[in-house]
Amino acid sequence: MKGEKAAGEAGVIRVLDELVRNQIAAGEVIERPASVVKELVENAVDAGAHRIRVDLEEGGMRLVRVTDDGGGMGTADLERAFVPHATSKLCDAADLDHIASLGFRGEALASIGSVARCAIFSRRGGEELGGRIENEGGRLTRAVEAGGPGGTCVEARDLFFNTPARRRFLKRPSTELARCTDVLQRAALGQLGIGFVLTHDGARVLDVEPEMDLRSRVRRAFGADLASSLEEVEARDGTTRLRGLVAPPRFARRDSSRQMWFLNGRPLRDRVLLRCLKDAYRGFVLDGRQPVAFLHLAMDPGAVDVNVHPAKAEVRFRDGRRLFGFLVNALREGAGKTDMATPGASMLAAAAGGSPSAPGQGAIADPGPMPRGRRACEPLIVREVAEAQPLTDLPAFGPDGAATLVEPADDLAGPYLTIARTYVARAVPDGFEIVDQHALHERVTYEELLADARGGSVAVQRYLVPELVELSAAQVDLLVRQAPALGRIGIQLEAFGATTVAVGGLPARLRNPDPEELVRVALRVLEDQREAPAAEELLEDVLHSAACRSSAMAGDVLDPAEIRSLLERARAFDGARTCPHGRPTRVRFTLADLERAFGRR
Ligand code: ADP
Ligand code: MG
Repeated sequence: MKGEKAAGEAGVIRVLDELVRNQIAAGEVIERPASVVKELVENAVDAGAHRIRVDLEEGGMRLVRVTDDGGGMGTADLERAFVPHATSKLCDAADLDHIASLGFRGEALASIGSVARCAIFSRRGGEELGGRIENEGGRLTRAVEAGGPGGTCVEARDLFFNTPARRRFLKRPSTELARCTDVLQRAALGQLGIGFVLTHDGARVLDVEPEMDLRSRVRRAFGADLASSLEEVEARDGTTRLRGLVAPPRFARRDSSRQMWFLNGRPLRDRVLLRCLKDAYRGFVLDGRQPVAFLHLAMDPGAVDVNVHPAKAEVRFRDGRRLFGFLVNALREGAGKTDMATPGASMLAAAAGGSPSAPGQGAIADPGPMPRGRRACEPLIVREVAEAQPLTDLPAFGPDGAATLVEPADDLAGPYLTIARTYVARAVPDGFEIVDQHALHERVTYEELLADARGGSVAVQRYLVPELVELSAAQVDLLVRQAPALGRIGIQLEAFGATTVAVGGLPARLRNPDPEELVRVALRVLEDQREAPAAEELLEDVLHSAACRSSAMAGDVLDPAEIRSLLERARAFDGARTCPHGRPTRVRFTLADLERAFGRR
């Protein structure tokens, strides 16, 4: 046969050269900028970093730079870092049974170096000088001495510059950025204790301080509405421990992108875990929707095999069945504690459509399963209508004293129906809407204050006698240093001795503000941030936490003129700017919604 004849010659099977081998390996782990971010961030975590900074340009396609303050590498290690299968995290095959680090294959840097223009600077903590090494698509330089901060900085520029076929698969910068952001959000939610900063083309995208707990991190990544609605879960089974936060069913989404599992800090997408959540929320969320949860699983590394998936996103549990039962129970209990929406409320959510509190939550076509749990015993709508003001009051609320119940001539005119001293219902041309007067007031106050602050003129209510607030010396120091920024949003204060501040005035737009409360909230915001926060950010946080207490609109009975004035003030801002973290201020029911609700469609 022909083959036999060829056997004595050169043969057709060749051993590929190293660059091609690395590029093939890169095909498995490095698909796009987000994979570079993931690998480099994992290395920084493994290096014991306390703070990790990621800078991107053009969605990471032009530049991914990851800087950490971890242990760093000496020159000898630097020269090995780009070598395939060179790792400091594994010695022999037995180590594969109990992997505690995020990396272990020694492939990432070699792969990235083969498809990008890379450079590493690194300095060990105790050493005076660090080193620098470059790898341009597989062309490696020798390490040279270089000065710089302790830790490591890895740069990968022009990803796939030497593999055009791969480069063509990359998407627009905004799409690639979104994927990188997702990686970093997951890292920030998974690695409690580590601070993360992400910038894109110089603008800050995410900023999480090392001390922030899981809830604060969710808040930074996904907003206050979700963060404040989460319930904690905590359970233990032998050495397996589950801790985390689960969201009420109303946050459920079409995709599982807000379902985050971490196993010993490693983000993972595992079908078994996804099914646990699905089971735990059965009956609470509509079919096809995915509950939102952020869950940390701590396990003995020996009880799980992480070496089954190229990106290490899937794992194999040694005792899957027992784990499953344990998790479903714990999660079901957690889910049951969340604020379960009644069918009425989920219909309202559907009517509100793109309400700012539920990004990505589309219309819910069907009212959903009958709710279970404690709150279901008190149907929201029925109870509150029962507490409504007597109907006989209504006619007087008409625009001209006449009883106009539908189709008001003036679009802000009543009648208004106040429900439970909190909600105001009124007809609109194509249906009706319900306004949360408290939320709307908070929003209006915030927007007006923000406009004032931007215009440089916040009206201040000065105190005749300053209010004194006792604090620690460090807190006083921080507040005094930020006094100009606070002044710009109408909080006037000065030191009054080493451990006291005197509050001289507060924004006049706040109703009955509590000076101590406001100072403490401002302090929390300032302590959360290293640099001086923007007036907007300070305002948002201060108002969201404090104004809602001090403005005290829920429970106030407003007369029709006050309601009208509130709606008028709100009109100035509607559509112009939606508060990204705010809860909805109003839900609208169109005729179409009513027809659907009553089965006419
Ligand atoms: P792995 O993480 O699987 O070991 P990598 O190719 O990602 O493989 O990294 C190779 C080695 O380079 C690591 O084992 C580690 O010793 C070193 N290294 C990589 N990044 C860093 C970093 N940011 N700080 C300190 N050492 C690092
Ligand atoms: Mg690695």
